[in-house]
Amino acid sequence: MYKCFLYSLLFLLLITGESSAGDIIIDSDMTFEESIAGTKAPKDLIDSLCLLNVEYYSFDGKLHRGQIVINKVIKDELTEAFLMLKKEKFSVHKVIPIVKYNWDDDESMKSNNTSAFNYRFIAGTQRLSNHATGRAVDINPRQNPVIYRDGKISPKGAKYQPGQEGTFSGDTEFVKFLKSKGWRWGGDWVSLKDNHHFDKP
Ligand SMILES: [Zn+2]
Repeated sequence: MYKCFLYSLLFLLLITGESSAGDIIIDSDMTFEESIAGTKAPKDLIDSLCLLNVEYYSFDGKLHRGQIVINKVIKDELTEAFLMLKKEKFSVHKVIPIVKYNWDDDESMKSNNTSAFNYRFIAGTQRLSNHATGRAVDINPRQNPVIYRDGKISPKGAKYQPGQEGTFSGDTEFVKFLKSKGWRWGGDWVSLKDNHHFDKP
């Protein structure tokens, strides 16, 4: 009888576990081909990319699943870093391959989207960005905007307030972890502060 009770308890735990997993909100569910459709990147570069599924708590407090196109060489470290964000319940607004915004970085940023691969130049230059090889990741641009030396902020109207939800600072575990693995954080830069940007050149 007691044993039977234990088994039912175990069963109950199993099904509740399953139903909570079913509560994940899906923000992106593409195939790899869909996630790179229309990119101008050469084939050998495309072959170095992969599509990573990530889970995160968004600003609604709910668990979401999104996708990010990255270079295979950063896959393990980024996977670990996202697990860290999830464990700390650090809010990430949404993670959707930038193809959804027609490869337009401004549109993606305006929408507070987190993304990585985009075959494009560094804003205002003719040099390929680290995003072009999938080795750079932008997270929560609205909470972590770019601040130029003249005080201009991108995306427009955003505010950088360290300590607020979804906002990075030099003390954030995620920032410290990636830097310990040889990544750079744009918030450390002097020419401008790219607070949402992380890369491994
Ligand atoms: Zn970036």
